[in-house]
Amino acid sequence: MPDYYSSAMQEMDSLNNNHFAHDIRECKRCPLSETRFCSCPGWFSNLPLDILFVGMSPGQDEDEVGRPFVGKAGRKLMELADRVKLVTDETTLGFTNIVRCHTPENRPPTGHEIQACSTWMRCEFDMTEAKVVLLLGGVAISLAFPGKKIGEVAGSARAIGSTVYIASYHPAAGLHKRSPVIEASILHSLRLAREVLTNAVH
Ligand code: URA
Repeated sequence: MPDYYSSAMQEMDSLNNNHFAHDIRECKRCPLSETRFCSCPGWFSNLPLDILFVGMSPGQDEDEVGRPFVGKAGRKLMELADRVKLVTDETTLGFTNIVRCHTPENRPPTGHEIQACSTWMRCEFDMTEAKVVLLLGGVAISLAFPGKKIGEVAGSARAIGSTVYIASYHPAAGLHKRSPVIEASILHSLRLAREVLTNAVH
């Protein structure tokens, strides 16, 4: 990576509340480090988090910018979140992925890649203490709904410790298939997240 680019990354990371951002930028735990341009550490507005969105892997746009959910899928997610008024000025928000590097042709990450990146997932979960974790898509749901398919659990919630995990279709699925059914299901999951947050003890 050119020097000017890595100093731009450092500047961006100074605005992120992810204490592991630097280590994740340097990570070489799996072969994705050879094909990525930029890794994408989780992005946290402020800690602790009210809500953490977890996707599969950064897309092409995110790989260029080094920050999760800055492309089309992220914009769609925020548009849907706005529609259900999930986010207010006080809401603390975070975005991360099961693996923090772009996969070639957006293929699903391998078991080895997921395992290698799970270290960062544990660090980020411990650091963010999110009240709600929105798991987006078939790969991310495995964190709380192992062995299940997205169609079986989309819209379901499960508490583990003091965190509520909610399964949702990925916003990119709504974009690709332009399916009103998928979009309605995502809106349902986002409304559920809003209800959990509204009822959470502050
Ligand atoms: N899709 C994801 O799952 N994650 C991103 O960061 C962007 C698109």
